[in-house]
Amino acid sequence: MAKPIKTYRRIAQISTLMAIFIIPFLNVWEIYFIKGTFYSMDIGDAAIADPLAVFQSIVASGKLNAYMIGSVVIPLALMMLLGRVWCSWFCPYYLLTEWIEVAKKKLGMNLKKPAYDKQYPSRASKFRFIFLLLGLLAMMVIGVPVLNLISAPGILSSQALVIVKFCYVTFELVIVFAILFMELFYYRYWCRLFCPTGTFLSLFRYKRGMTVYKVKADCSMCHSCVNTCPMVINPMADGESLHCNNCGDCIDVCPDNKKEETLKFTFK
Ligand code: SF4
Ligand code: SF4
Repeated sequence: MAKPIKTYRRIAQISTLMAIFIIPFLNVWEIYFIKGTFYSMDIGDAAIADPLAVFQSIVASGKLNAYMIGSVVIPLALMMLLGRVWCSWFCPYYLLTEWIEVAKKKLGMNLKKPAYDKQYPSRASKFRFIFLLLGLLAMMVIGVPVLNLISAPGILSSQALVIVKFCYVTFELVIVFAILFMELFYYRYWCRLFCPTGTFLSLFRYKRGMTVYKVKADCSMCHSCVNTCPMVINPMADGESLHCNNCGDCIDVCPDNKKEETLKFTFK
């Protein structure tokens, strides 16, 4: 029997979490094949950067160069081909929120997951795009890339670097812990409604990229997929939504998939 998608996702997530500590450790030992953080990283001759960080830098400096363009090619190509897998497969913050959810269940705490309704995806979209826009406007007014200050994956990776290289942490870690602490009370609120990195990435979703799709018209309508979706969307109908991060949890949980392919990842 095939392993659940979540098994592979966890391997990717834990490897990424380990990498943010291993990379600076290698640098301490003067191995520089790979260096940087999730804001900007060099792997051999390839530069990879957070597209939102690059966008802010272009707007703030008014300059655009080949290095900036080259550094976003891989993340944006991945986004267009595989959807927002950065979030559910690699982002260390997302992994921490999943662990918080497990802890909440073990402690008997109420998950406080909002109930799905048809209007939710468009309401949530409006909210998070307005938040992103406000951040960009604030950046233009004060000339500082403020959205980097609330980029959870960027902060976590840069804090891992300062811990390994310099053995201290900075105030940014308090910001990310405060955001994380609120996850105890508001189900996945940061990734669903606020994170500027995830919101900006989702702008590059390409409709022919990887999408959850219900390939069998009739199913038992148990709604397990809807109840499971961490982004509070309906996987049977909203797979193409900008909210879907292609975590695959809905595919794993679908009981009909065990009998006949019903819900799966497809490329149109
Ligand atoms: S939405 Fe932001 S914090 Fe959440 S998984 Fe995506 S990049 Fe990470
Ligand atoms: S629709 Fe499925 S793949 Fe998309 S976020 Fe929800 S559970 Fe994950």
